[in-house]
Amino acid sequence: ASPLVVAVSTSLSAKQGLLIRNRINFENARRVDTVVFDKTGTLTKGEFGVTDILPENDYDQNKLIQLAASLEQQSEHPLAQGIVSYAQSNNITIKKANDFQAKTGEGIEGNINGQHIDIVSPNYLDKQQIDYDDDTLKQLSDQGKTVVSVLVDGTLAGMIALADIIKDEAKEAVEQLHAHGIEVVMLTGDHERVAHWVADKIGIDQVYAEVLPDEKADYIKSIQQQSKRVAMTGDGINDAPALATADIGIAIGAGTDVAMESADIVLVQSNPNDVVSLFNLSRQTYRKMV
Ligand code: ADP
Ligand code: MG
Repeated sequence: ASPLVVAVSTSLSAKQGLLIRNRINFENARRVDTVVFDKTGTLTKGEFGVTDILPENDYDQNKLIQLAASLEQQSEHPLAQGIVSYAQSNNITIKKANDFQAKTGEGIEGNINGQHIDIVSPNYLDKQQIDYDDDTLKQLSDQGKTVVSVLVDGTLAGMIALADIIKDEAKEAVEQLHAHGIEVVMLTGDHERVAHWVADKIGIDQVYAEVLPDEKADYIKSIQQQSKRVAMTGDGINDAPALATADIGIAIGAGTDVAMESADIVLVQSNPNDVVSLFNLSRQTYRKMV
């Protein structure tokens, strides 16, 4: 057992962009049999573009985007960026919003001109028993689009659909994990249909969708209870509890600080293939030691 080997691998890992925050969990990485990935920002680029604007009642497309962008301006979510960019490139004025608050995993809320605005997931509408056009939602999410709804004083003002891009390396990473006999799971706060659309494209074995941040950790626990050794890979605040719960928490990319602080290993680049490299590195390092 030579500390030299570990030292060598650590400098090697620094070169490949793996920061090891917890050495013991890095050692155990070679024993992982299940890898769980967050979707947005982890398997996808998290670069959303607005594709459909569907106003309701008194709203038109510009008014709906104006409201949404004015509140989203204060959010750090990748969806927010997509809506704000759309407003900017269409010269839609962004207004001042107050009392901004994130409902992590469900959306955001705040006030604009004395009106209360919520921008939320379909799941949240279901919970609040707010009616919406279910067929349109199905149609859009079957195309892999994420749909958010804008509420003004609790009444639906419309829906906005956004499309993300699957990372080029995602499919290859899943294939390589499979080649090592590792099961691959997706855990996402996004809609079931959007989750399956992405999962099907890259060959994911199992999908848990519409999952809130605390529930993400519960899913990890339930997989562990099946005697599995689980690695969780994610980038967001919403992934932090799951990263902390997993046998190995892997923060990917220039993810949020909260995610990095909860992780055992930080992958500096935003490449899902680095998860495979990390397992290989763990295997190589600790094989030499015995
Ligand atoms: P993921 O697990 O894919 O990273 P999140 O947990 O971050 O997803 O978000 C789950 C859902 O909550 C999103 O698909 C969206 O419907 C809603 N949501 C989260 N943040 C925002 C936001 N800033 N604006 C609008 N909707 C949001
Ligand atoms: Mg994410």
